[in-house]
Amino acid sequence: MTKAFRNFIRSNLRNSMQITLKHLSSPRKDGHILLLFKNEDFSSTYFTKEEIAFIKSELKADKKFVAVNQYNRMVYLQQMETEKKNSSQRLEMARKSGATQFSRLQAGKLEQITLISTLAPDLVLAYGEGLVLAGYQFLKYRTGKKKEEHAVKTIFIHSKGLTEKEIHQQNILNEAVFKARDLVNEPQSFLNATEFAKQFTLMGKQAGFKVQVLNKAKIKQLKMGGILAVNLGSIQAPTFTIMEWKPKNAINKKPVVLVGKGVVYDTGGMSLKPTPNSMDFMKCDMGGGAAVGGALYAIAKAKLPVHVIALVPATDNRVDGDAYVPGDVITMMSGKTVEVLNTDAEGRLILADALHYAKRYKPELVLEFSTLTGAAAAAIGPMGIVCMGDVPDKTRKELHDAGNHVYERLAEFPFWEEYDEWIKSDIADIKNVGGAYAGAITAGRFLNHFVDYPYMHFDIASPAFNKSNDSYRLKNGTGVGVRLLFEYFKNLSRK
Ligand SMILES: [Zn+2]
Repeated sequence: MTKAFRNFIRSNLRNSMQITLKHLSSPRKDGHILLLFKNEDFSSTYFTKEEIAFIKSELKADKKFVAVNQYNRMVYLQQMETEKKNSSQRLEMARKSGATQFSRLQAGKLEQITLISTLAPDLVLAYGEGLVLAGYQFLKYRTGKKKEEHAVKTIFIHSKGLTEKEIHQQNILNEAVFKARDLVNEPQSFLNATEFAKQFTLMGKQAGFKVQVLNKAKIKQLKMGGILAVNLGSIQAPTFTIMEWKPKNAINKKPVVLVGKGVVYDTGGMSLKPTPNSMDFMKCDMGGGAAVGGALYAIAKAKLPVHVIALVPATDNRVDGDAYVPGDVITMMSGKTVEVLNTDAEGRLILADALHYAKRYKPELVLEFSTLTGAAAAAIGPMGIVCMGDVPDKTRKELHDAGNHVYERLAEFPFWEEYDEWIKSDIADIKNVGGAYAGAITAGRFLNHFVDYPYMHFDIASPAFNKSNDSYRLKNGTGVGVRLLFEYFKNLSRK
């Protein structure tokens, strides 16, 4: 690759256009209308007698959706069943329904629409969320991007009980999810470890949080042996990004630290991965880093009164003359020695140094996100997030509640110390792979050797990247983790 070409493709990461939600205190009568209602309780003010008769007969025939073409505008009616399900399922149904509505607006090339609803405010907001998130596009590398860009730009919302602030926060969150998706979708040809850190610096400027990037010299000085070992096979330097949001009105005395895996590309190293269904999507191996960076972006931009620090160790994992090999013993930043038996279990090596580094903050809690194991993916697929750890019951409940609310549900695995037997090494303190069973858990137990604080590990190996389309989560990078974290901190701030 020539230098000019490399510079050309390293043009700045640009977000695709984002649909904006706008609060309306009184309903507009002009423009396209979308009525969201339950039972048969739709507002008749927008229709002629004939239209009302038509709508009623459609609803009677059990149609949940009716479109009325009034020539100068479209009026859509969406009936939502709000019974039968629990609140978490209802919200998810609303998001999915919003995503379906996005396709209709897009098919009609509508630029804006007014959403008027008598439903509960949280359902209306979830519907808007699904609609916006379904409108994400990653067109940076498309030469015909102007033509491909979605038409939909603005959704006006009139809903009793839904505040301007809630809509504002939702816009911020949507933007943060888009940023995380952008980062995951960027190929390694643009997003190497240095560029990843640069993007966090940019996000810090935009949202108002502090960013410090440690370069390779500093990483060496700190003796971050895990990061340096993984980086041996790369000609690109590693980075270690420290992001901090510390508002004056923070409600927590000790910070919460987020840690995210930043393997910008994973070949597996000498324990090389096969290409199909494996190495071919390994640009997503920094999904944890994208999640914590995206979350901090939303937290800072929404000015939540919480002191949060995010750490992202980053490198690619490659094959080269000096690459680390199975059998090597490395000394981690903490001083612990690790026998490397598989160079594809690299995430835990770079995370271990970051988790050790986190001790200096005496954190109240550490939440770490990583696309860590195929075992987690095999266990529950993309339906949720595998998590495990040792946190107070109250925190555990708050995390699960947040996960249910945003439908980034948590499947908690056991964290029994007996699993430590399986990562004992013959010649070093521990080894970086366990046996044939419980691979997600032995990975978590490995990381547990480097913490001395309440800690929860989130394995997002499967939900971080979709190989086929899934409603508002779409295909490719999903930005999973951002919504979960924002919800968790938003709830903490309310107390
Ligand atoms: Zn790997």
